[in-house]
Amino acid sequence: MQIQENFSLRPYNTFGINASARYFSVFNSADQLTELLDSRLPTLNSRLILGGGSNILFTHNFDGVVLKNEIKGMEELHEDEEYVYVRAGAGENWHAFVQYCISRNWAGLENLSLIPGNVGASPMQNIGAYGVEVEDLFWDLEALHLREKKLYTFTKTDCQFGYRDSVFKHKFKNEFAIINVSFRLRKKPVFHISYGAIQQELERMGVKDLNIRAIAEAVIHIRRSKLPDPVEIGNAGSFFKNPSIPKVLYEALKIKYPDIIGYANANGTVKLAAGWMIEQCGWKGYRSGDAGCHAKQALVLVNYGNASGQEIYDLSEKIVKSVKEKFGVELEREVNII
Ligand SMILES: Cc1cc2nc3c(=O)[nH]c(=O)nc-3n(C[C@H](O)[C@H](O)[C@H](O)COP(=O)(O)OP(=O)(O)OC[C@H]3O[C@@H](n4cnc5c(N)ncnc54)[C@H](O)[C@@H]3O)c2cc1C
Repeated sequence: MQIQENFSLRPYNTFGINASARYFSVFNSADQLTELLDSRLPTLNSRLILGGGSNILFTHNFDGVVLKNEIKGMEELHEDEEYVYVRAGAGENWHAFVQYCISRNWAGLENLSLIPGNVGASPMQNIGAYGVEVEDLFWDLEALHLREKKLYTFTKTDCQFGYRDSVFKHKFKNEFAIINVSFRLRKKPVFHISYGAIQQELERMGVKDLNIRAIAEAVIHIRRSKLPDPVEIGNAGSFFKNPSIPKVLYEALKIKYPDIIGYANANGTVKLAAGWMIEQCGWKGYRSGDAGCHAKQALVLVNYGNASGQEIYDLSEKIVKSVKEKFGVELEREVNII
């Protein structure tokens, strides 16, 4: 395995930030990763497991080892009357995996079509879109403990999933490399089309017999029309999470701002649309140098070319501050800041 020094990470993060890694290497099995961890690189304490780089912001050069996960493989494990159990290597591209499942008529992942990144980060982030989250389909995963160099299995309960959240972002932050992930998919689909514009898009497409391929196609169309493509303009999708607040606070805000957008959560709190609040603070379409807030999606911060990670981060700080001042609500970043 080749270990490269002072390696540019620009092609490896969708923000297109020109940061470098002191050391960089790629692994395509748990054994190779163990070998790399044994190779006693001088900066072993500081290491980062990298997937597709689509939810990461480098605010400085990384003075450690970046280990890019390229573990491949997709396979059916077994099935029962209702479900099929399928496993994918952490380094598989997420959308390719979704398409692999759809082509076999395994249902459940169709609403999560076209989310950038790799399979390994999907449970870590508990990715979600159009009313579905990975935790709804997740079965278990295997992860290598980076110090013990031992494989552990995590069930759904072990992962402690939350909104764009899991145990790997807190208690076990930087402790594990996810090696593979298993999902339980339905043989007979249950459709989720009430969220966002899916229904209208299906109508526009003239779909008569609803099926998972059509839903995936509708999601792909909507995403392409709404979200900036990182190939054209650097970004990492939603920069902030939609914050949840107690219902009483929401009702007080609603009196002051009748147009405020909120969705009731099952636990009685209300989830606010962060994008709407950011827009009300005047940030939508803002640009300073090459760092900006997207003109169509206020939740998405962008790099128009040569912005540094620190410039993007500083802009996010200003946004957090102004939303706090205007609405009294603290925004939390969804993107992993390095
Ligand atoms: C245009 C665009 C649209 C997006 N839309 C959505 C959306 O609709 N819904 C959504 O949820 N997200 C969305 N995202 C965010 C992103 O796609 C997801 O968070 C994705 O899961 C990140 O995967 P990745 O492989 O690129 O992770 P990376 O950016 O490489 O890593 C993210 C974090 O996970 C860690 N990590 C990655 N792989 C592993 C592993 N194998 N083991 C341990 N840790 C690991 C990294 O260290 C890092 O902390 C969007 C991003 C973009 C650019």
